[in-house]
Amino acid sequence: MEWNIQLPSKTCANCAGQFGDKDPCHSVLAMNNVELIRRDYCAACFEGIREQAKSDAGSAYWKTVYKLVLPPPKVDPVKKDKVESLLRAYLAGEIDDETKKICYLLAVMLERKRVLKHLKTFSDTQNDKRVLAYQHAKTGESFAIPDPGLAMTEIPQLQARVKELLDTMDRPPAAPMPADPPPTPQS
Ligand SMILES: [Zn+2]
Repeated sequence: MEWNIQLPSKTCANCAGQFGDKDPCHSVLAMNNVELIRRDYCAACFEGIREQAKSDAGSAYWKTVYKLVLPPPKVDPVKKDKVESLLRAYLAGEIDDETKKICYLLAVMLERKRVLKHLKTFSDTQNDKRVLAYQHAKTGESFAIPDPGLAMTEIPQLQARVKELLDTMDRPPAAPMPADPPPTPQS
């Protein structure tokens, strides 16, 4: 499901011009069947579609500054990085009903920490699917999180499960079982 996390593209979707460092980048997300399609435009090309993009209820629009070189990740392994790593790992794999719920909860946690910014919730009534679109505050990536339609009563149990998953990440990998102790010489 590589459309779940999309990096800003290196070139404009319209003129194919390369983005330079610190160039403004106008991004539009739109739902296409079950996938979110992301298009990044340079300032000149975006002028031509600005009104349409901003008024279109079926798409989300945001503006960033293209960064040629991303700042190196902070070294301190703070909690939010664990939440983010877990979410990235889940989004990279097959998403079943359980992981969908976990991804949703992790995204909400990251939204509270302002790592992710909610852009829009897309709904595809034909397929009865809703997808939450987020923007990563630092990298400009877009994240698509399928809405699991959580019931309030499910949340406490799910929160416990997420805590368990995060705690597991703290633990060092299990040490190999010690071999039988050498026989103690009898005196
Ligand atoms: Zn362009």
